[in-house]
Amino acid sequence: MNIQDEFIATVSHEMRTPLTSIRGFSQTLLSSWDKLDEESKKKFVKIIEEQSNRLINLVENILTVSKLNSDKPILRAVNANSSIEKVLPLLIQKYPKHNFIKNYDKNLPPARIDDEKFQQIITNLLDNGGKYSEEGKNIYITTASTDNSVIVKVRDEGVGIKKNDLEKIFEKFTRLENHLTSKTQGNGLGLYITKTLVEAMNGKIEVKSEEGKGTEFELIFPIYNTEEALKCSLQS
Ligand code: ADP
Repeated sequence: MNIQDEFIATVSHEMRTPLTSIRGFSQTLLSSWDKLDEESKKKFVKIIEEQSNRLINLVENILTVSKLNSDKPILRAVNANSSIEKVLPLLIQKYPKHNFIKNYDKNLPPARIDDEKFQQIITNLLDNGGKYSEEGKNIYITTASTDNSVIVKVRDEGVGIKKNDLEKIFEKFTRLENHLTSKTQGNGLGLYITKTLVEAMNGKIEVKSEEGKGTEFELIFPIYNTEEALKCSLQS
């Protein structure tokens, strides 16, 4: 099977599961409406809602994947702290029982990145931090710099990842077995999208993790160098 056929086969399989469940529960509701008590009806409608959300997320992620090659990043001087500030409130709202702890380098130089894509990357990493750690745990977001790089770290105190699984997490449709993967929604595309976006912006992503203790993702992006940018714009 070529890569495209394989992708279509996997996507169809990923879609069939929620669709089968939506059809099954709506058929039961329709055929047995009068026999079902209120509680069961509510439970079934809730499942239909959850599975619809799962499908919507899947479709959104597949659209993002399909645009990854053609949608080139627009590299500008971006202050990573301000970009993080734009998405953080949404994550705090989504995970109100987690503690988000910021540790910004106040003198952070601008990074040469695409603001919107960087926001998507940070959202994916913080969202995973929330999904794969228990309520009440801390999620740290730190920025720093070296002479030529801007560094952003997202660390959680969650379930962690086994050493052997570390390289698999960036592959399409990979979801690891742990007690939180079964409780949370996901389709295993988030980190594939994240890594592809980071690399398209000449960045690097690294992961360190300890099972049961937590996970840290480190992003490294080039600093926006005014002279270099000027040279590029004069050449083009
Ligand atoms: P998903 O939609 O399943 O969250 P991702 O591509 O974002 O997909 O992540 C792939 C898998 O990597 C997840 O299913 C999970 O098993 C593991 N993973 C990702 N982030 C973390 C994290 N912060 N802590 C523990 N496991 C993680």
